[in-house]
Amino acid sequence: MRIAQRRTKIVATMGPATESEAAIDSLIKAGVDVVRLNFSHGTVEEHRARAEKIRRIGLENDRHLAILADLQGPKIRLRKFKQGSVDLAIGDSFCLDTECADGEGNIKQVGVTYAKLPQDVKNNDILVLDDGRIVLKVEAVEGSRINCTVQVGGELSDNKGINLKGGGLTAEVLTDKDKADIKTAALIDADYVAVSFPRNAADMKQARMLLDAEGSTAGLVAKIERADALDNLDEIISVSEALMIARGDLGVEIGDAKLPAVQKEIIRKARIQNCVTITATQMMESMRENPIPTRAEVFDVANAVLDGTDAVMLSAETATGAYPSETVRAMSDICLNAELQSSAIKSRHRLDDIFEHVDEAIAMATMYTANHLEVRAIAALTESGSTALWMSRISSAIPIYALSRHESTNRKVNLYRGVFPVYFPTIHTNHAEANQEAVELMRRRGAVEEGDLVIITKGDLMGTGGGTNAMKIVEVGNMPDFVA
Ligand code: PGA
Ligand code: MN
Repeated sequence: MRIAQRRTKIVATMGPATESEAAIDSLIKAGVDVVRLNFSHGTVEEHRARAEKIRRIGLENDRHLAILADLQGPKIRLRKFKQGSVDLAIGDSFCLDTECADGEGNIKQVGVTYAKLPQDVKNNDILVLDDGRIVLKVEAVEGSRINCTVQVGGELSDNKGINLKGGGLTAEVLTDKDKADIKTAALIDADYVAVSFPRNAADMKQARMLLDAEGSTAGLVAKIERADALDNLDEIISVSEALMIARGDLGVEIGDAKLPAVQKEIIRKARIQNCVTITATQMMESMRENPIPTRAEVFDVANAVLDGTDAVMLSAETATGAYPSETVRAMSDICLNAELQSSAIKSRHRLDDIFEHVDEAIAMATMYTANHLEVRAIAALTESGSTALWMSRISSAIPIYALSRHESTNRKVNLYRGVFPVYFPTIHTNHAEANQEAVELMRRRGAVEEGDLVIITKGDLMGTGGGTNAMKIVEVGNMPDFVA
């Protein structure tokens, strides 16, 4: 049984701080649901070994952890300085030169990794370096050289990232490294693959094509981290299983002050189109070094829960931080408390909608009933997890158990808010038997007890994807042996 019935899911990034089996075990016990492998670091062999460890230790804990492979994407970076770093003062002239070699940077200039940057910028453009710590204004572009003045100064060191304020950089989204990494993601059977810096649906479709070619059915996550992606949000949602609100790069491009409203809008739009959301970056940043979060971080996580996010994500906090499992526990506690708010429990979502599919209608009817009748749990017998996905778009306090014989489904649904996967190996031809076994499985897990009402959904032809056409309400301990 889970440590608590937290509905909002926690994504934690693996790194040096969470490499050992003991560290992974304690992260899982603290409540991690999805593990993010950052493909900016590591070899094929390292990713493979990590995925194996995570899944094995997950199952030892009776948990179906999903693995999210996060592609590096075309992040533009500075090359290295001679001395490792320089100190820039406001008003200084400083040049970004695509032909300045690695290790040759100095107080006047430094190299950049993207050869076409000079073509992509014009006079008066603002370049934001190192997540906003350094700001440069473009004065003139001469061949490979972008001459700038320093608007916000400070220490600038090797390999820092560069963003163009307002967006509009044209670098190819899937780099050669990403294409190779997609093969690795397929090899390790990643449950989700995140595309960094997509601009539109075409970028996502290209990733999907490459995954298809490798035989992967991973869910695609679009990282919303550039201004162009916001302009094309609807089309991106229509071809993605999930969106990541990548507040780091996005904040640098559009300005941090715009982020809270944008976060709410992304979550709202995704929910309407049955897309899942992950709110990411600096949620518990101070816990990299401290055993407790700041009060502002507590509010940030709680507000993301109230915005309706499916998952909240940890990056450096668990990858390199000093308190990885404490961070997960603190985050879990914040989510649990936020979920008690009535806006997280009640739903008027889709009340006026017309439904397109029978299984969709059953999912909606189930949630409406669950929210209006004293029901203890929902058991959705599912092949692909789509019934559970539709259900999870409706706010509710009733847990949605997704019962599937497919491990890939169990892992995928583990990202959906309020959905708890249960391995259900058998396909029954007799519905009464199936109902009884489903309820018995849940009773053994402590999810339901004698006298509780449970809503079961399934298809007449069990084991057929998209076939859910029935919803049944049963009482635990008082179920007829034969139900037609
Ligand atoms: P990253 O993405 O950590 O891979 O850069 C998240 C973000 O930009 O916020
Ligand atoms: Mn990013």
